[in-house]
Amino acid sequence: MQNNTKHKTICSYCGVGCGIIVEKDAKGVLTVEGDEDYPVNKGMLCSKGKNLNYVAQDTTDRILYPEMRWSKNHPLQRVSWDDAFKRAAAVFKSIIDKHGPDSVGFYVSGQCLTEEYYLANKLIKGFIGSNNIDTNSRLCMSSAVVGYKKALGEDSVPIAYADIELADCFLIAGANPAWCHPILFRRLEKHKEQNPNVKIIVVDPRKTQTCASADLHLQILPGTDVILFNAIARILIEKKKIDKNFIKKYTVNFEDCKTSAFQLTINAAAKKCGIKAEDIKKAALYIGNAKGFISMWTMGLNQSVIGVSKNVSLLNISLLTGHIGKPGSGPFSLTGQPNAMGGREVGGMANLLAVHKDLNNPEHRKEVSDFWGGKEIQAKPGYTATEMFNALDEGKLKAVWVICTNPAVSMPNVNKVERALKKASFVVVQDISHNSETTEFADLLLPAAGWLEKEGTMTNSERRISYLPKVIDAPGEALPDAEILWRFAQEMGYSGFNYNNASEVYDEYCLLTKDTSIDISGLSYNRLKNEGSFQWPVPHNNHPGTPRLFSDFVFNTTDTKAHFNAPAEIYNQSEEINVDYPLILNTGRVRDQWHTRTKTGKVKRLLTHIPAPYLEMNKIDAFLRKLKEGDIAVIKSRRGEVQVKVTINYDIREQVVFLPMHWGKILNNDFGRANNLTNDIVDPVSKEPDFKYCAVQVQKYVKP
Ligand code: SF4
Repeated sequence: MQNNTKHKTICSYCGVGCGIIVEKDAKGVLTVEGDEDYPVNKGMLCSKGKNLNYVAQDTTDRILYPEMRWSKNHPLQRVSWDDAFKRAAAVFKSIIDKHGPDSVGFYVSGQCLTEEYYLANKLIKGFIGSNNIDTNSRLCMSSAVVGYKKALGEDSVPIAYADIELADCFLIAGANPAWCHPILFRRLEKHKEQNPNVKIIVVDPRKTQTCASADLHLQILPGTDVILFNAIARILIEKKKIDKNFIKKYTVNFEDCKTSAFQLTINAAAKKCGIKAEDIKKAALYIGNAKGFISMWTMGLNQSVIGVSKNVSLLNISLLTGHIGKPGSGPFSLTGQPNAMGGREVGGMANLLAVHKDLNNPEHRKEVSDFWGGKEIQAKPGYTATEMFNALDEGKLKAVWVICTNPAVSMPNVNKVERALKKASFVVVQDISHNSETTEFADLLLPAAGWLEKEGTMTNSERRISYLPKVIDAPGEALPDAEILWRFAQEMGYSGFNYNNASEVYDEYCLLTKDTSIDISGLSYNRLKNEGSFQWPVPHNNHPGTPRLFSDFVFNTTDTKAHFNAPAEIYNQSEEINVDYPLILNTGRVRDQWHTRTKTGKVKRLLTHIPAPYLEMNKIDAFLRKLKEGDIAVIKSRRGEVQVKVTINYDIREQVVFLPMHWGKILNNDFGRANNLTNDIVDPVSKEPDFKYCAVQVQKYVKP
């Protein structure tokens, strides 16, 4: 009889990227535990990670074989993989012949493995001849990408998790890591427990679980982050708590930052933010006196119509204080998805080129297209996430191929997205499960292998690349996403896709990184398997990886200096609040659910924490609407409606309400789909939607 086997892998949920040991017994039953040797989590796992074995073994909802409809009115019918590839290639060729390469697009996911991301990007940019590939990561971190590029010259997270234990001041803005990055936050909590002088400042309109560990909670009005960060910058400058030597030697444009910071007095800024001036001064003092300062942020800053301005104004604070490139210091955007970072590295977005090369640069485009040996890469950026569904709606985009994501729940203004998917000439959905609402719109449904069913690599929030092995066979006829992509490319007649396994794709990608700032040419599958994970760059075979970037204070800008940036907007540009829509809706995650619940929604244990969507509102706002705890509320925006139970407290600011983003139609009848309400306006540069701010009205539900 076969013995139990143990396999080291990585959690498939958030960007923290915890190490997991999967044990498979003789009957194939899986158990999971945290990997004590893995540097990220040192044996810890959060509730989602601890229950991954149930998700991996439950095949009840899995897509088991390719299904196709012969026309829009026909039901999906089982077909062979050969027929599926033939149909997909025939339709794509016919649409491209008739309407050009920009009439097709790929919408992928931060949950794709790096090899899959790389292939999808190569396929459309290098062979189909369009840049129409975007990702659900657009919805969570594209503002951070632009911020890093503007300040540091490149999309490079400067620090490592190990810096957490070296810092003595943290500014956590627009993030609730206690729930959304739990193991990372546990490290921070432990650090503070052992070092009571460590200061934690939290910036959030809600008093979240993260605030329980905070020394200072700045409960700002939604959309006033730039005003707050500018006010902190002003105090730091006025109180001479800045690093003049660092600014002089290693930065440019200090005056731009100063001019912006001095636009408002501290009292005026405090009033705009809805907080006390004293508290802003206290925050500035904590930061100004810190030996090691880390800012952490995520959706509250990124998912905004002024997301880039929020990012650059926060980055300015690290530059003012010289807290970058040093132990325990640096700006640190937390990625939401397990491989959002890997997707950025391979250029899996409409405006990016592989290996951090610049789509605007003709030489860079030529280097990549020569390497691939396909078509000339177009200079024009492709459709970003919201643009892609708008283009489908307007008939400019005819076919879309959706991989491992559920836009029918996760996109803003989702009723419009549903309309667009219905209008599309051809929709391919490649996913593991029927639990995705998007499968309903598929003309061709392709079964993909899931976590533990394929091999590949991912990069976590701290640039750590890890190898994920295949542990179990995929059910039915499901195939690894990478294989689906290369077989489709072969069917299209493209050369350069004759791979036999993911390792060959990875090797090719590594070669492309050579001599770039993200060089991993020294990091083979063998090294990853034998020596564990590495933080890029890893430019040669004996290189130990790079935990911290910019230790030499040489930045990736053309002048090698870090750049201060005046935020383009200091005031919020979201839609108007008025008498008809007097409340601000904020959306976000809860502790035990993940994205659109296609995986966590089927784990009973994870439903005990928060089993259903709810609207969190302030007691005064509830009182004014005669709403009591547990009443059903009708929430309306200018785009749609939702009905959910209310939960009432003083933890959320007056005039602000919060609705989790996870619930869709499946198992919930659409009652709590937050994105019925949200707005699809975007930051003009990052194109990230304004998920955190839309105008709503809330009323008590009255039976008709
Ligand atoms: Fe998985 Fe994130 Fe939880 Fe770690 S913190 S176990 S990566 S969900």
